[in-house]
Amino acid sequence: MHELNSFPKTVLIVDDSPINRAVLENILQPDYPILQAQDGLEAISQVEQHENEIAIILLDIIMPKLDGFGVLDHLKNAGVLENIPVVIISSETSAQFIKRGYTRGAIDYIQRPFDPEIVQQCVINTIMLYSKQKALRAMVDEQVREMERNNTLMIDILSNVMEIRSHESGMHITHIRALTELMMRTVSERLTEYEIQLQDIKTVADASVFHDIGKIGIPEAILNKPGKLTAQEFETIKEHTALGEQMLHRLIFGENEPLVCCARDICRWHHERWDGKGYPDGLKGDEIPISAQVAAIADVYDALTCKRVYKPAYSHEQAVQMILDGECGQFNPRLMECFKDIAVDLPAHFEALVQEHSRYVSNDDQPSHGDQMVAISQKELYRLEQEKTKYRFIASLSNEVLFEYNRSSDVLTLSESAFPQFGLATVIARISQNQSLFSSENWEVVQKIKDTAQQTIPEEPTAQLNVRILCPGGQMRWYEVTLRSMWSADPKSILTGIIGRFMNVDHQMAERDTLLDQAQRDSLTGLYHRGAAQARIDHIIEKKPSCGALLVIDIDNFKSINDQYGHSAGDEIIKRLVAIIIENTRKEDVAARVGGDEFVVFLANVTSEQNVTLYLQRLLGSIAQRKTGHGFTVSIGAALCPRDGDRYAQLFIKADQAMYGSKRAGKNQGGVYDGGNRMLASSQSNCDDLHSGNTCAAH
Ligand code: GH3
Ligand code: MG
Repeated sequence: MHELNSFPKTVLIVDDSPINRAVLENILQPDYPILQAQDGLEAISQVEQHENEIAIILLDIIMPKLDGFGVLDHLKNAGVLENIPVVIISSETSAQFIKRGYTRGAIDYIQRPFDPEIVQQCVINTIMLYSKQKALRAMVDEQVREMERNNTLMIDILSNVMEIRSHESGMHITHIRALTELMMRTVSERLTEYEIQLQDIKTVADASVFHDIGKIGIPEAILNKPGKLTAQEFETIKEHTALGEQMLHRLIFGENEPLVCCARDICRWHHERWDGKGYPDGLKGDEIPISAQVAAIADVYDALTCKRVYKPAYSHEQAVQMILDGECGQFNPRLMECFKDIAVDLPAHFEALVQEHSRYVSNDDQPSHGDQMVAISQKELYRLEQEKTKYRFIASLSNEVLFEYNRSSDVLTLSESAFPQFGLATVIARISQNQSLFSSENWEVVQKIKDTAQQTIPEEPTAQLNVRILCPGGQMRWYEVTLRSMWSADPKSILTGIIGRFMNVDHQMAERDTLLDQAQRDSLTGLYHRGAAQARIDHIIEKKPSCGALLVIDIDNFKSINDQYGHSAGDEIIKRLVAIIIENTRKEDVAARVGGDEFVVFLANVTSEQNVTLYLQRLLGSIAQRKTGHGFTVSIGAALCPRDGDRYAQLFIKADQAMYGSKRAGKNQGGVYDGGNRMLASSQSNCDDLHSGNTCAAH
């Protein structure tokens, strides 16, 4: 969009009277920069030097050397009047005089002596009017260019489809289009009998890319058959000419557009030959439209110089000679003259195209020059887009979410599965400022991914991390993120973006967690082993240092229980004890089996000796009141965290000492460590016969 204030503002005052010029200058300054001329010739030279700065010319008529009418005529011929308005300033008031000025292209008339307000208003209005017109013209130009770009893109997409289908790649279509354009330009200059207009050159060049569009309807096995074709197969291939023409007849829109009409001719007749020996219609000489004659030469040249499944690539010189010798059928002799002349520079021309192409592709910031380059870059984009489409499809099958983050535009693009999986749209603009779109958990994930990418280097741009994502429905799921950071090509290597994928690994992670958990547990009781217990308890203590009591519980006289009732009865007792322990612990506590008949319990948030003692009594009471199986008792020792230690290992030693204190004091009791192994608090079950080591019968 063009801003009005980006247009020029200078006023050129043309008058032979210095006083008149000074008066006008006085009226217009300081709002407008002023240029002056004292006669018609000087006016023209000022315009030539400052055409882009001048917004308006105030022109006197009666002047020496060249009068105002002469200046108007000159400016009109030079095409300047379209861009710079001229207002006549004169004391002449005759209608005839003013009319002459208007017919020569003046836009307005101001009479002397000058009224400052009228002069100012006239200058403002005229400049505004012209500026608006210019802005509109620029907009229209831009739209036309945009349409041309779109057309070029469409042509490019279609021609790419053709190339992919016939396993041709690279510059095939570009060469055909370029050669057709060169030929058409030469024909329009030399063979005037064909009456080729300037716009025909581009139309035929664009249309030439469709010449083989009918091959879409030919079975691929025949199209890409490596060996010699059978007569039948050759007949099938020949049908691509008529097929292409029919396809372009079936268009809903644009059937009568010059491009489409021309493409139809080229499709149908690009295999016709000058001597009538071509197909499908056996047209002769100039019965074949000139567009099809030219495209046919371009097609044959390209076919000869490219490697195909059924032939090697010929050199440029060989190909030109073969065409001139009529080895690929007879062409129009006058066209052959043109082709011969063009052929000399053809390799250099193609080479230049390739270089322009690679320069353009390797430097995104470089502005495009000319259609050819835009077309090629869009072709490249199209290829990329195709790759993405393929990958997206595969990703959709595997439930992956692909992402692409562009740092300069701050846009995150996600594949379609992002919505069902994360509840996110496929495009999120200005993501850095859009934290509100994410839950706090997921925003942390975004930052984690960014940080991980930042830590990569151009030589090793990939990284992997596991993240937990809050999904629609409130579930937390594990995802594995594989990412690749993108870096600018310049020596400074700036991170330009990140691409990657999220793979749902929740199932695997859950399985892993289960296995991990199983590995940490004792098979008989399902309680944690010593190592796992230690890690968990230390973790709790680390998080909240003033926080609990560690109990060591050992079954009394277990050996004799085993001896008396057998090992499996012993096992049953262990299981029953564990059931009682579990009944007497909460979610936040940790229970573990740390030896054959030895257990630990960490009671979170139980901090006073009194509470621990109460707990011990309750536990011993529960054991004494068990209803089934053989009786048993336990001895318990407790240590307080952080009073007796702030690590499991320290706490265990103290609690174990307290437990042995209980054993020494007669078993079936518990006590809290007091430093000297003395029981500060103790608790006994009411099953008295246990003291001697006898077991207590079930109630
Ligand atoms: P104390 O009262 O002094 O603890 O005497 P105790 O007999 O219980 O002696 P100690 O705790 O040292 O003995 C533990 C016994 O537990 C030794 C072993 O035979 C038995 N044991 C260890 N693991 C198992 C097991 O998984 N099942 C059974 N049934 N017995 C076990
Ligand atoms: Mg024991």
